[in-house]
Amino acid sequence: MRSVAVFPQTKQVRVIERPYPEPVTGNQVLLRILEVGICGTDREIAAFHYGSPPAGSDHLILGHEALAEVVETGPEATAVKAGELVVPTVRRPCPHRHCAPCRAHRQDFCVTGDFAERGIKEAHGFLQEYVVEEDEYLVHAHRQLAGVAVLTEPLSIAAKAAEQGAAIQQRLPWERPRVRGLVLGAGPVGLLGAMSMVVHHFDTFVYSLEPATDVRAKIVRSLGATYVSGSEVPLGEFAKKIGAMDEIYEAVGIASVGFDAIGALGPNGLLVFTGVPAPGKPHPTDLGTLMRDLVLKNQLVFGTVNASRSAYATALSELEQAMFLFPESVRSLISHRHAIEEVPAMITAGGGIKRVVHLADAGRS
Ligand code: BGC
Repeated sequence: MRSVAVFPQTKQVRVIERPYPEPVTGNQVLLRILEVGICGTDREIAAFHYGSPPAGSDHLILGHEALAEVVETGPEATAVKAGELVVPTVRRPCPHRHCAPCRAHRQDFCVTGDFAERGIKEAHGFLQEYVVEEDEYLVHAHRQLAGVAVLTEPLSIAAKAAEQGAAIQQRLPWERPRVRGLVLGAGPVGLLGAMSMVVHHFDTFVYSLEPATDVRAKIVRSLGATYVSGSEVPLGEFAKKIGAMDEIYEAVGIASVGFDAIGALGPNGLLVFTGVPAPGKPHPTDLGTLMRDLVLKNQLVFGTVNASRSAYATALSELEQAMFLFPESVRSLISHRHAIEEVPAMITAGGGIKRVVHLADAGRS
């Protein structure tokens, strides 16, 4: 069977042949991979800036945003059944007894750093025709979502941010009639974050560099959100021109943009960082103003990475709601579908919104 692997030592990305998996046992599940999404993390791995193969392997099989169909289940697998569609989670727990988050199945909060991530860190990914996975790492998806459920993993990042944000904002013991939410960046993570805010009835704004005529701006408007182009409104003037925001979801991975956005945050506001900036020159930020604002406005800034099973389940529910409310907008987030053979040439290319590798069609069972 075919898979796509990066070879860090020889700096190659290749389609390789692998043996078909052994019969499943225990709680193992044999999956036929239907689709795999490509994101900035994959591009970083393919450029050999990030990621690491499993111990003893000279290569890492890519792919962490997957949609799969269950082919066969081991005798102890109870979470899913043959023929069902599933989305696998990415992170696997570290082995240390003292890591309370991992022992509580919350490896998205692992404190040792010795977790593995499929397709990213020390574990092969899902960009292959068949994969074996344990049932506890699979989340059931309704068959009606077959065309878009590959978006679940990037949406789970927004779902975890929202879950954490809601927990944090419980500090405000009064009802907030209509939350004003701003998303920074109109890439797939930003657009999915905006979709999630709209589904939750936020008054939603997306701020990005593209002009207001860009296809991304059109998608934002089709969700009922407001697009604000950086070419028209400098971020420093956002609050004055558009109004202050209660919650800001950063999805650009540029530190200066992330911190400049604090100026757009209203009293008691929450700013969440999801981007991982590439190392660069230090930025001359006015730390005094930053600290004064955070203190005098009771503001909070936090970072979030990865997602729990519950966030995947929330993401799938949000996707269902979004497919009811604006199905064409959701479908248009997937701008390209590629065959597996095209991956080595395509993976470092930019352009489009979400690029997806299509490996197989969902069966009719
Ligand atoms: C993935 C996360 C992962 C993170 C860091 C992201 O692209 O969506 O699941 O934890 O990269 O490796």
